[in-house]
Amino acid sequence: MKFSRNLSRESIIRFLEGGGPDSELFKAAREVLLESAGSSVFLRGIIELSNDCRKNCFYCGLRRDNKTFSRYTIPFNEVINAFDSGYAKGLRSFLLQSGELLGALHIDHVEKILHWVSRNLEGVRMVLSMGELPMESLERLREAGAHRYLLRIETSSRELYERFHPDDGLHEYDDRLRSLQMIRASGWQTGTGVLIGLPGQTAENLADDLLFMKELDIDMCGMGPYLEHEQTPLWNRRSELRHWEERELLTLRMISLLRILLPTANIAATTALQTLDPEGLEKGLMAGANVVMPNLTPMKYRKDYNLYQGKVHVEDTLDEVLKILENRCSAIGRDVELGNPGDPLHFSNRIKEQVGDWTE
Ligand code: SF4
Repeated sequence: MKFSRNLSRESIIRFLEGGGPDSELFKAAREVLLESAGSSVFLRGIIELSNDCRKNCFYCGLRRDNKTFSRYTIPFNEVINAFDSGYAKGLRSFLLQSGELLGALHIDHVEKILHWVSRNLEGVRMVLSMGELPMESLERLREAGAHRYLLRIETSSRELYERFHPDDGLHEYDDRLRSLQMIRASGWQTGTGVLIGLPGQTAENLADDLLFMKELDIDMCGMGPYLEHEQTPLWNRRSELRHWEERELLTLRMISLLRILLPTANIAATTALQTLDPEGLEKGLMAGANVVMPNLTPMKYRKDYNLYQGKVHVEDTLDEVLKILENRCSAIGRDVELGNPGDPLHFSNRIKEQVGDWTE
């Protein structure tokens, strides 16, 4: 079956609804990946720097009103020790993730870590995922050595966004969209993503999410199945959720369709997908993903970073995770690429195009 890279909205909806053979879709996505970006699996070591957050999203266990766990911020020395160990094992891309915190102390802390990485770890790409930061903070962090920014739009539907966030002036769809557009326009390698399988979310909504990411021309994507958390308002609507197998299948279809729409983007096989199914890693990679994110967060903090419940690999050491990843990737004919920061080809291509435009 031949797939056009300009898939129409109607054909995307048809595939999401199961109207096309999944095996053909996954195979086509794998072929696009191999032709465009190769078979490598890139690793991005993640540190969950702080579980504190000023926001209150209805689906997230880290929301401000959840008082059932302790909040932490990992001190500088523990962060750099974790980076050092990851670097020694061949990791060259690290993600610092936290809830949304705008205070000077948080930004100073991140800036200090980035300066240390720039001075001490050669050839590393730093990725940040810390919510909607003001331009001034983003610029400071970029100057300190950050290269990539991930800001999930969560859903491109304004109506769904408003349904799953409080109406308090702090969770505005327009602010999130502007923030993402500003990041993209100011030269970051830009990533976004969506939740898949929210109550009431339709195939049309998800098709629009894919077209939104194509239109924004993103470099990276991390999208995973929605997983419920009992300390959130959405827990009360869990009876409306699709069965986990359906959420998984939708996620795999989304990965494949995005691979066809954006052949050279980096797409993650997310931990949420692996939490839903022990074979989620292999299935995500076979559907067209090419990035995996081993957790480098020091062990004592991990149980308190609960975006959702039941997260996998919480107790595995980096050595164990790398070994498992290498074995499982090689079993499906994919190589884990150590010693390589795995810049998204999509980013280098669009920069080349821009330079071409300026010099013509
Ligand atoms: S989704 Fe992000 S911004 Fe929203 S409550 Fe969770 S950590 Fe905070």
